[in-house]
Amino acid sequence: MSPLKELFAETGPISRSGPGYRFRPGQLALAEAISETLNQKQTLLAEAGTGVGKTFAYLVPLMLTSGKSIVSTATRHLQDQLYERDLPRIKSALGVSIQTAVLKGRGNYLCLYRMERAKEQGRFLRPEDTHAFSEIVSFSGLTSTGDIAECSAVPEHSPVWAMATSTRENCLGQQCPKLSECFVMAARQRAAEADLLIVNHHLLCADMALRDEGFGEILPSVDHVVIDEAHTLPEIATEFFSQSISTQTLSGLARDSLAIGLEHARDAASWPDLCGGLERSIMEMRALLVDGTDREASSRANFPQGRMGWDQLSASDEQRWIVALKALGDSLSALREVLSLNADRHAEIAQLAAFSLELNQRLAAFQETTPAALDVRWIEFSRYGMSLRRTPFEIAARFQQEMGRQPRSWIMLSATLAIAGRFDHFQRRLGLHDASTLIAESPFDFQRQGLLLVPQVLPDPKSADHISQLLHQAAIKKLLESVRGGVFILCTSHRAVGLAARWAEMWAASHPHRLILVQGQAPRPVLIEQFRSHGAALLIGSHSFWEGVDVPGDALSLVVIDKLPFAPPDDPVLRARSKWCEAQGADAFAAIQVPEAAILLKQGVGRLIRSESDRGVVVIGDRRLAETGYGRRMLRSLPNFSRTRDPEDALQWLASNVQGGRAATAHRGSPELES
Ligand code: SF4
Repeated sequence: MSPLKELFAETGPISRSGPGYRFRPGQLALAEAISETLNQKQTLLAEAGTGVGKTFAYLVPLMLTSGKSIVSTATRHLQDQLYERDLPRIKSALGVSIQTAVLKGRGNYLCLYRMERAKEQGRFLRPEDTHAFSEIVSFSGLTSTGDIAECSAVPEHSPVWAMATSTRENCLGQQCPKLSECFVMAARQRAAEADLLIVNHHLLCADMALRDEGFGEILPSVDHVVIDEAHTLPEIATEFFSQSISTQTLSGLARDSLAIGLEHARDAASWPDLCGGLERSIMEMRALLVDGTDREASSRANFPQGRMGWDQLSASDEQRWIVALKALGDSLSALREVLSLNADRHAEIAQLAAFSLELNQRLAAFQETTPAALDVRWIEFSRYGMSLRRTPFEIAARFQQEMGRQPRSWIMLSATLAIAGRFDHFQRRLGLHDASTLIAESPFDFQRQGLLLVPQVLPDPKSADHISQLLHQAAIKKLLESVRGGVFILCTSHRAVGLAARWAEMWAASHPHRLILVQGQAPRPVLIEQFRSHGAALLIGSHSFWEGVDVPGDALSLVVIDKLPFAPPDDPVLRARSKWCEAQGADAFAAIQVPEAAILLKQGVGRLIRSESDRGVVVIGDRRLAETGYGRRMLRSLPNFSRTRDPEDALQWLASNVQGGRAATAHRGSPELES
């Protein structure tokens, strides 16, 4: 028996890592393929269906291999879960004592220097901010890691954290008087010493893109990189290979310059005029997004939200933007000049001078018009701020360059990496043409555990109120009435969430036992926890609820998906990528839109069955899934649920499988839905 076979055997050491362990052939096959890849320093792409146990399948070989390893996860929450729950269990089951550490982006650690500065200057406008700040000060005396996730009294999204955390640009580094107590430096030190380090994709990509997010010194010494939830990597890498400059960053520069200038170089210039000039340029630019004549509009609460390609501007609007950007560049240069002249008066002034120079360069890069450039210029805006961005059409060459810096093994895994059994799309996006691939099938009996319903009668997926029409259908109403467990309504847009919330308000009046939860009412983790513990709640959410949500048992028995999750066709990045793709002779819809929607749909459907005893129904309110060629291709990527187009079948199936009726044989659906 191979060592891995012994470890993963029904009564082997891994079985002692926690209750409910079962031998799963897919898990062993995945662990063996990973072990081989680690030995050969090659690249493996693996799709592991729900329930395979992919985390242990990579942690065990990593613990047994020689050399330094990095595991990158999609979110900070998953980092904590891996570090606090999975790693200790595997370490004790294997009896190994390797050194492990977790490292997050610097914004996740308290910055003692900035906190002290804010305490000295500190006048907060809102009483709740004053209170939150005093909680942060108390936390600073108690924490040993400075990880802001541990400060439960202040939510992570509180704006006050900006005053007590650092950025790459404002950190004083070696010049900092708090360097010896610095939490960021301590976390990096622990990371440098670890044999196995847990990071997240943002940190990994930031480091690849900037080589300055904290483990630029660590990456070169790493022998193995495992990327979990790898389906999210192309988007995150694209974001980090983009260039951007935001109004929040510019305002932060103005705010910090005003404070430090008045304190350490009061005689050097009229700081309020200089910094106010920059703020005014920002306001002028924002005003262009509402109405050129309405200057007040740029600060209104109902400021529009969206994305706009530079190529979508009319000739006259483009001219106005050019003038506004020129004014912004001039204000920024004026401030940079004064900061540079006074750089020797304080380390923070020197830091801000360097940062303002970088911002000037980023602004100039945005304004550059290079017809042959393989990127798109676009503007993202909301009432909170605005970003000017340049995003590359494709990142494969750049990603390959980063991967090729040193021979090491790369393992990329996810429950949703392949489309209809093939990895082509993912391979194309990251240039991984020579990688080995593996699909480890889920041990769940999806045919018996789930039913997929695409009703025969459905509203037009292109109609503006599609979700309202869907939820008012008698068949859907009946399903909602008969299911006893919890319900997810997953929408493809925020607008649809709003319409579904309006429907739910009325529906709740006649269903008082249901707890209605709507995205935006509370932070996502709070909503998910409420949903889990209630057991019969109805949650309405858009994209952030399609993945990373794990609700086993009857607390989730029905998932309603409004439509196929195609990206909005007017998205400036998608438009530019599609145009570029077509210029290469490919069909952009088939090459970009369909595969990306297929992966997201697979994620959404995957919320339903999370354990071997789960049962439930998924409704997809989009007939294109059953009636078009690309829809059937997407269908082939989904778990092999029983399938039907008749809502009556779903009612019967629920009654016999989920609501405690007799064990029924899985219903075989109508032919159009069979893959
Ligand atoms: S070194 Fe940077 S992050 Fe650390 S305390 Fe100083 S300013 Fe803050």
